Amino acid sequence: MTLAAQRILVIGGGFSGMSAAIECAKLGAEVDLVEIDPGWRNYGAGISLGGATLRAFRQLGILDAFLAHGAAHDGVSLRLPHGAQVAELPTPRLAGPDVPGGGAIMRPVLARLLADATRASGTAVRLGCTFTAIAQDGEGVDVAFTDGQRRRYDLVIGADGLYSKLRETLFPGAPKPRYTGQACWRAVLPRPPEIRTATLWIGPQVKPGVNPVSRTEMYLFVVEPRPINTHVAPSAFVNHVRALLADFPAPELQAIRDGLTPDSQVVFRPLEGLLMPRPWSQGRVVLIGDTVHATTPHLASGACIGIEDALVLADELGRHARVEAALAAFEQRRWERCRMVVENSARLGEIEIAGGDKEEHARLMRESLMALAQPI
Ligand SMILES: Cc1cc2nc3c(=O)[nH]c(=O)nc-3n(C[C@H](O)[C@H](O)[C@H](O)COP(=O)(O)OP(=O)(O)OC[C@H]3O[C@@H](n4cnc5c(N)ncnc54)[C@H](O)[C@@H]3O)c2cc1C
Repeated sequence: MTLAAQRILVIGGGFSGMSAAIECAKLGAEVDLVEIDPGWRNYGAGISLGGATLRAFRQLGILDAFLAHGAAHDGVSLRLPHGAQVAELPTPRLAGPDVPGGGAIMRPVLARLLADATRASGTAVRLGCTFTAIAQDGEGVDVAFTDGQRRRYDLVIGADGLYSKLRETLFPGAPKPRYTGQACWRAVLPRPPEIRTATLWIGPQVKPGVNPVSRTEMYLFVVEPRPINTHVAPSAFVNHVRALLADFPAPELQAIRDGLTPDSQVVFRPLEGLLMPRPWSQGRVVLIGDTVHATTPHLASGACIGIEDALVLADELGRHARVEAALAAFEQRRWERCRMVVENSARLGEIEIAGGDKEEHARLMRESLMALAQPI
């Protein structure tokens, strides 16, 4: 059977775009990927991954590399500010009986594993490059690039992220990213032996957590309400995190607080969300990942649903003789799951900001994680 989309362009080399390139190349397509950053860098500290993400890694072929370079573990420990454990959330082993149900890894390490797999897939990667014009007819998409090249494709996959230029170009009326009233502080720290799994301390409004990212390191994240998204000078980052942790007498958090020095690297990120209403495609151009569904990290599943988009899109391209039919089937399979993650994460944030009902928070968390465990 001839593949409906033989020549494919991926715009954006983040986790979603790289995954799309890998899976489309597996189908036998000729794939180009353009990434605007000449250094193909990925910033931030660690990234937490649930069983559904590890299941996707198995399909992508990077699970063993993840297990070698990241950290995998079962369960999430929920604790009170003093340190007493109130619950252990189970994390089903979705990637196989021999693979723990969750884990974490440094972002740049995951980006490197995916970049290696992208190049190994035969994808032609052009860094420091993006599109300047895009025009389509019934048979294909003509794209002009910043490096002066012009090419025609059967399909363009837009994965250029939350502030997508492609979304802006195709859907100028689409909603803009929305600040949610919370911010996240992150840092990478040595891992004490007693921290073996993802661990969260539930304060009235502030929520610190740690997650091992390797045998020797873990990352700290602290989510706090910030009603107005004001600038914070980087010189104030460390003291701010120390102040947030002051209300948590748990010995692990106090040790972290004491260990933060003016030299500690702290990353600050105001939390934003975006759910673009359907459709997610226009003719032969389809948008995936944060470009159409950027979530706050309350379910630690933003990267997961972007990577899953790539798997499902390639699956549907392999099943349909026409690109338009594949894109419709893709959207049909993805909409409800992505909507659930974005909206439930936003609701969890609202409950935290209001210091609201802990029962509702725990129920929503459980229901969402059970839904994420379903097959895609
Ligand atoms: C504070 C925070 C914590 C998070 N924690 C987690 C977590 O623990 N677990 C989890 O699963 N998710 C988490 N997420 C979400 C996750 O980081 C994102 O969902 C994921 O990185 C999105 O990947 P993406 O490839 O869709 O987009 P992006 O990562 O934004 O990638 C877009 C890529 O496109 C490139 N690009 C941009 N514009 C252009 C252009 N015009 N042309 C070409 N290239 C372009 C960019 O340089 C980038 O490489 C978190 C998010 C935040 C904000």
